[in-house]
Amino acid sequence: MTREQSYTQAFENQRKILSHKKAVFESAIQNLQNANPDFAKINTRLSQLGAALATTAISGDSEAVKSIQSEMTELSADRAEILKSASIVGIEHDCNVCRDTGYVNGKICDCIHTAAKNLLIADLSASLPLQNCRFENFDLNYYQNTDVDGANPRKRMTAILKLCKEYVISFDPRSSESLLFMGDTGLGKTHLTLAVTYELLNRGFDVIYGAAYNLFSEMETEHFSGHTNTKYNAAINCDLLVIDDLGGEFVSPYIQSLLYNIINTRDLSGKPTIINTNLAMGDIAARYTPRVASRLIKYTAKKFIGNDIRQLKALEKK
Ligand SMILES: [Zn+2]
Repeated sequence: MTREQSYTQAFENQRKILSHKKAVFESAIQNLQNANPDFAKINTRLSQLGAALATTAISGDSEAVKSIQSEMTELSADRAEILKSASIVGIEHDCNVCRDTGYVNGKICDCIHTAAKNLLIADLSASLPLQNCRFENFDLNYYQNTDVDGANPRKRMTAILKLCKEYVISFDPRSSESLLFMGDTGLGKTHLTLAVTYELLNRGFDVIYGAAYNLFSEMETEHFSGHTNTKYNAAINCDLLVIDDLGGEFVSPYIQSLLYNIINTRDLSGKPTIINTNLAMGDIAARYTPRVASRLIKYTAKKFIGNDIRQLKALEKK
């Protein structure tokens, strides 16, 4: 789901709920009208008075206007009394700011922003462990606190976790740096980038997250089926693009140029990208062409180190 689609969906959901509420309300009024002749009479009289008020106001007869208004006030009070005794309340809006129209003073209401954001999070959660991969449950204890080949995994990962948290806090879609997370499988790259994604989505930023093989194959399918390049355009224009597991996909000349176009276009417009990969820079150049590698060299690179956490967790369960 793209951000645009999430907004379309949020408006559509709100419209459906409101029209259902209106239908329920109108049918309750209709039933009361059929069951209570006094109520029906009041309604008829009120609409007659409404029409009369319009013509009388134009004639400028202020005494007559006042008299109509006072009768209307009285009848409206009677009507409200009948409605109350029949336990019919007016339409209760979910959002009292926009009265469920989705707009306030020509701008999209916060209720729609929130609904769209939640739809995006729910959509991503359906295919990724977004709920389980948070900063709070990123466990540094899985990383050894002793030097391995001259580097201390615990210290390294503590610094990377801190960097990710700060990245979220100071995130700016026009100036945040691009990140390249390198290192073997099972060292927490996906966990941390999902945590960044969740936090930024929650703050209302437009984040697209996908494994390279999913992202590219969806774009390829879209492109060759002749449809509009919705996925590609979304990846180009979003606030943050996260490509997980670069190197895990089948590479074709089309994918090579697709990847180059995406990262180059984002780079030129100053938009940040985060890439996770098991590949070393030399492998990236060989696999995706040196011009792709020349763009990624500008990214802030962090090498994840330690033991495969998935294996450690599996051992714990035994
Ligand atoms: Zn609202």
